[in-house]
This record gives sequence, C-alpha cells and structure tokens, in this order.
Amino acid sequence: MRRVTIFGATGSIGQNTLNLIGRDPDAYDVVALTGGQNIAQLAKDAIAFKADVAVTAHSHLLNDLRQALAGSGVEAAAGPQALIDAAARPADWVMSSIVGSAGLAPGLTALQQGASLALANKESMVCAGPLMLSTAKAHGARILPVDSEHSAVFQALIGEDLDAIERVIITASGGAFRDWPLEDLAAATPEQAAQHPNWDMGQRITIDSASMFNKALELIETKEFFQIAPAKIEAVVHPESMIHALVGFQDGALMAHVGPPDMRHAIGFALHYPQRKALPVERLDLVSLGQLTFRPADEQRWPALRLAREVMATGGLAGAVFNAAKERALDGFLDRRIGFQQIASVVEEVLSRVSAQPGHIDAAITLDNVMHADHLARVRADEIMNK
Ligand code: NDP
Ligand code: MG
Repeated sequence: MRRVTIFGATGSIGQNTLNLIGRDPDAYDVVALTGGQNIAQLAKDAIAFKADVAVTAHSHLLNDLRQALAGSGVEAAAGPQALIDAAARPADWVMSSIVGSAGLAPGLTALQQGASLALANKESMVCAGPLMLSTAKAHGARILPVDSEHSAVFQALIGEDLDAIERVIITASGGAFRDWPLEDLAAATPEQAAQHPNWDMGQRITIDSASMFNKALELIETKEFFQIAPAKIEAVVHPESMIHALVGFQDGALMAHVGPPDMRHAIGFALHYPQRKALPVERLDLVSLGQLTFRPADEQRWPALRLAREVMATGGLAGAVFNAAKERALDGFLDRRIGFQQIASVVEEVLSRVSAQPGHIDAAITLDNVMHADHLARVRADEIMNK
C-alpha cells in the first residue's frame, strides 16, 4: 500500500486526487488530508478514506473538526504548525494542492522526508524554485509537476536531451475575458472573472486565468522547474485548451501534449509515475474536434505577462513578491476594493517599491526570507489599495 497525503484535499485538485485514489482504495493508505474552511468535506473524506489525521489550516476551526470527526478514530488537528506536522508524517506520495504561498512550507517539509511531491501549488516554484529543487535533491525526493502545462512539458521531455531544447510553449485559454473589448475590462466583476470557458478549477486560479496572472506564474514556474532560459519560454492563447504545452527541439521537432481539459490526467500521471496506468479521462476524437486555433498572448491586454518577464529577469525573491502582491490584489478585487485592471497595476507598483528597498529582492532564497518578502509585499499591496 502506498502512503499518501493530500494538502488542500477539499479543493478542486484535492477532490480530483481523491476521485482517482477512491477508484482503487486498497492500493492506498491515506496518512493525512488537509483543508481550510470546508470542515464538512474534510471530515467526510477523512472518514471515508480512513485517514490517520485530518488537519484544517484554521486554528479556530479545531473544535468544529473534532465534532465532525467524533467517534471515527480520525485524529483532528488545526493551524499552520499542524500542517507542517502532517507533512512530517512519513508518506510515499504527497499532493501539494493548497492555493497560494501557504502551500510552500508543507511542501518543503514533505520533500525533507524524501516523499514524491506532486506539485499543483505552482506558487511554491514561483516563490522559491531554487529552494524546492535543492531540498528535493538533498533528501532524495522527487517533484512531479501537476500543473497541466508543466505535466505536458515533463512528459514531452521524457528521454530527451535537455540541451537540445530550443523553446517551450505553454498554452493559455485566455480566460473569461478573452473576447471582451479592452474598454469593458475596467467594469469586470469577480463573478464574471470566475467563469472559465474550459476548465473547472478553484475560484482564485480561475480569476487568475482571466487576468493571465495564472499564465504569468506558469512562465516563471517553467523557468524554475525545468531550468530553461526565459527567452526560450513563450505563452500562446489557445482557446480550445486541448494542447497544454509544446516543446521545440533544435532539429525543428515540436512535441505537443494533447488532451481534453481534465486535471485527472496530470494528477494521475504524477500519481502513477513512472508507470502509465489507465485513467478515467475522455479520449480525444480528432475528427469531431475538427480544428485547433491559436492567437498571440497580447501583453497590452494582459500586463501580467510583461511583469512575469521582468520577474524572471530579476530573479531572487522577485517571484515571491510578485506572487504575494498578486494574491493580495486578488483579495482586493474579490472584496471590490479595486477593479479588475488594477490587479496588475497594484502588483507592478509593489514590485517597484520593494525593489527600491535594498536587501529585499536579492536576499538568499530561504523559507524565512521568502515568507518575509511575501509579508512585505502584502503590506505594500494593502498600502497601495488603501490609498
Ligand atoms: P481551491 O481553491 O479549489 O482549493 C484550495 C485548497 O487549499 C482547499 O483545500 C482550501 O481549503 C485550501 N486552502 C485555502 N487557503 C489555505 C491556507 N491559507 N492554508 C491552507 N490551506 C488552504 O484551489 P485549486 O484546487 O483550484 O488549486 C490548488 C492549487 O493547484 C493552486 O496552487 C492552483 O494554482 C493549482 N492548480 C489548480 C488547477 C485546477 O485545475 N484547479 C490546475 C493547475 C494548478 P478550503 O476550501 O477547505 O478552505
Ligand atoms: Mg496550468
């Protein structure tokens, strides 16, 4: 039996992961499931999957969780330290699918135990890519990408010579506002931004798809994960979301990963790696699909893409600042304190303010420094939004 832990089990990725594990329950021994506010779902799954422990990220919800688990034999725990403690419990495979930089510390702890870490939490790579890779190396752990584009690149690179890579192209659906006139974006609401044309995902990543901050994070994730020069990485808008990424080699070959938008492919690939096992995903019928289309990823419509280039050029803790500023600006948009287009302008201003303070962006990439940069960026974002 493989011991598995899922961080963010109550979310979209977490639920898809449980869907796959639940198809072959005898193959898995569930160690820990974690969630946030959704105590009912967390308790239900922890009991159904016979987890050793269920953890909510929120200390004040411990009693609610205890009550929901009463008599089940599943241990209850709560708070940020309880997440770390859960990550320290031995497991063979750990899904990192908390949303936001809150996913970083548990993921690092799981790597320190030598676990295979299935990484949906792209923020970990954006904030602390070098630390993630060095921690994995030091502990003989493996990081498997779960973001669909990065899983696609990973699969296209199996057996290939990394020096022969000429370019990596990740695709973007374009999100909810892909076809909106630019002048209408100023009035876009959170409800409108949360309607994704193709993928069924959590609210925050769905809005990040509309603003293209999701793709911006993914450009940085590509650079960090695969150690590829930013000049070789492109994003292209592909409204059908059938091709997830393409890798171009120096002989001109372009290897594409194609499949219907269902995260259970990338999750299942990471779950069974290095084997390929049957997965319950739709098989593509090329003839009924008919055609696939592509458009440029316009940096005027989506300034997040330009900012990602700047962050990649700067390096250091710029990714942590960028991500935290985006998380906070997204909170501001959700609370209707700022408009849709101000998400990017707040992030840009946070980056410029933090960069102007010597010693912040260029500090060593340690967990403490990343969390400090993250905190500082949130404070600056609040200052800007409260102006
Ligand atoms: P969801 O919002 O659906 O789920 C997020 C999960 O994290 C929930 O379990 C939530 O708990 C928990 N959570 C929220 N805040 C915190 C916190 N501060 N500390 C600890 N746990 C917390 O997100 P998704 O599943 O959509 O995304 C998860 C990650 O995977 C993100 O990094 C996203 O970018 C990435 N990803 C997602 C894809 C998708 O298809 N959904 C595709 C590619 C990448 P609760 O709900 O109980 O409050
Ligand atoms: Mg993705």
